[in-house]
Amino acid sequence: MMGQAYDPSNVFARILRGEIPAQKVYESAYALAFHDITPAAATHVLVIPKEAHVSLVDFVANASPATIQGFFQAVTETARLMGVEESGYRILANHGPNSGQEVPHFHVHIVGGQPLGPLLAPASA
Ligand code: AMP
Repeated sequence: MMGQAYDPSNVFARILRGEIPAQKVYESAYALAFHDITPAAATHVLVIPKEAHVSLVDFVANASPATIQGFFQAVTETARLMGVEESGYRILANHGPNSGQEVPHFHVHIVGGQPLGPLLAPASA
């Protein structure tokens, strides 16, 4: 099945091109990490691959093993730099309509800095 085509005008592509600012936390050859503009927890950072992939499915299907490894190393390094490795944190990635994914460039949320409670809030009808 064909996935959704990558839209190079999405907000994270624009951050990668330096067209709009971001509060950077970490950068490597594979990934960029920056603060979420609307934090949902005391610590809320996004990690995005530098390669153009729409979502988790596109990333895993089409990125090289080195890129996938480098990306997830950037996730753990970002959490370490944010000081939440010992206190604990949660990562999540939205894929597809039921998830409510807003930005069509694969990204992982790192949330922590406080007790996070249950995994999911009750869905509104
Ligand atoms: P998702 O719903 O998983 O696609 O999450 C997109 C996230 O991107 C949301 O948590 C937004 O608050 C965040 N976001 C949107 N625009 C920006 C931006 N310019 N800088 C930082 N975070 C952003």
